[in-house]
Amino acid sequence: MDDKRVEQLKRLPKIDLHLHLDGSVKPETIRELAHQQGKPLPADSHLLSRMQIDEDCTNLREYLSKFDFVLRFLQTGEALERVAFEVVEQAANQGCIYIEARYAPILHTLEGLSVEDAIRHVRDGLRRGERQYGVIARAIVICMRHDSYERNEAVITAAASHYGDGVVAVDLAGDEAGFPPQLHRSIFELARRLGLPVTIHAGEAGGAENVIEAITSLGAARIGHGVQIDGHHEAMELVRSTRTPLELCPISNVQTKAVNSWEAYPLKRFLDFGITATVNTDNLTVSGTSITLEYVMLLQHCGLTLGDIGKLIRNGAEASFLEESLKSGLIDTINRQLAEQGL
Ligand SMILES: [Zn+2]
Repeated sequence: MDDKRVEQLKRLPKIDLHLHLDGSVKPETIRELAHQQGKPLPADSHLLSRMQIDEDCTNLREYLSKFDFVLRFLQTGEALERVAFEVVEQAANQGCIYIEARYAPILHTLEGLSVEDAIRHVRDGLRRGERQYGVIARAIVICMRHDSYERNEAVITAAASHYGDGVVAVDLAGDEAGFPPQLHRSIFELARRLGLPVTIHAGEAGGAENVIEAITSLGAARIGHGVQIDGHHEAMELVRSTRTPLELCPISNVQTKAVNSWEAYPLKRFLDFGITATVNTDNLTVSGTSITLEYVMLLQHCGLTLGDIGKLIRNGAEASFLEESLKSGLIDTINRQLAEQGL
C-alpha cells in the first residue's frame, strides 16, 4: 500500500474500544521500570521478543503467555499511571479521538496494591493522557476467567464504586477454552445489579455458543472478538437482532488462529449481514499493531473499501460505553471529521 493511503488512514478520526493496557506497554518503558524498581531484565534476551508474539504462535494460550513477563513490572501505582498515560499517547499518535483501555486490577496486586488502588492509578494516568493529548480515554475493568467468585466479586464491587469516575464497563478475559462463560453467570448478575455495562471476551478461542451464552445469560452489551460466530446462523442472527456490537481485533485474531487466514476473515460477511462490527487493536505491543495498521490490513486483504472503514469507525462511536452526556458529542465529532475527509 502506498504511503499516501497509509497517511490518509492515519489522519482519519479513529476509535479503539478493545485495548489491553498490559499488552500495550512500550519496551523502553519496561526497561526504565525494571531499572527504577531494581528488577533485573534477563540479560540474554532481546526485550521485544519477550513482549511480542512471533509468526509461529499457534493459539490464544501461547499469546497470553507474553503478559506474564510484563506484569511483574506493573505492580506499583507509578508504573500503572505511566502505562495508562502512554497508551493514550500511542493512541493519539495514530489519530484516535476516543479509547477504552482495559485491564484486570487483580493482576496488579502482587506487591501490595489493592484492587481500588489499581483502578485509581489507571484512572489518573488516563486522565493525564486526556489532558495532554485531547483523546477521551475511559477504562474497562476485567475479571479473570480462572479467578474465584470472591476475587471477581471484589473487582466488580470496586469497579462499581468507580463507575462514572473513569470506569465505563466490566469484562471477562483469559483462557476462554478452559473456562467457558457459563461459569461466571452469578458474577455478571452482580455486575448488572450494580448497574455496570458488560462486555465479554467470547467466540475468540471458543465457539459461537459462548457468544450466545454471553449475550443471553451474562448480559453482554458488547462482545470481545466474536469471530467464531461466522457461519453459525443462530449466533449471527442473535448478534444482529440484539444489535450487540462485536469488538473485532483482526491482527490479533489472525495471530491467535481464531481465524486461519486473512482471506477467511469474516468482517465483510458480518457487515453485509447487518452486524455492528467495530475494529480495534487488542494489544499494541504483543500484537505489534496500531489502529492504522488494522485498517491497512483490512483494505489490503479483506475486500473492504474506504466507505466500509468510515462505517466501522462510526460503529465504534455508537458502540462506545462513554457516558451519555458526552457520547452524542463524540458521534457528532466523528461524523463531522469523517465527512471532512470525504467519508
Ligand atoms: Zn482482549
